[in-house]
Amino acid sequence: MTFERREILLIVGVFCVMIGLMAFLAPIFAVAIAVVTYFGIKSFVKWRKKQIRKALGESICASCGSKIVENKCPICDTTKV
Ligand SMILES: [Zn+2]
Repeated sequence: MTFERREILLIVGVFCVMIGLMAFLAPIFAVAIAVVTYFGIKSFVKWRKKQIRKALGESICASCGSKIVENKCPICDTTKV
């Protein structure tokens, strides 16, 4: 699992929301909402990536994920069926 800068931003954002929620809710609820939000966004991003990949399926190699150039993968060099 790679730890991207976007992920750090997400954690910081969720943490700020959690602190904000603590002003209105009991800390346990704020933490619970923050955790649910974090995993919700994580799974949403994963789903989005999958959808984008599916949409670009015509131009991306199924085995290595690189761009198809002239119906051929520059890495695998196999003709796309
Ligand atoms: Zn390939």
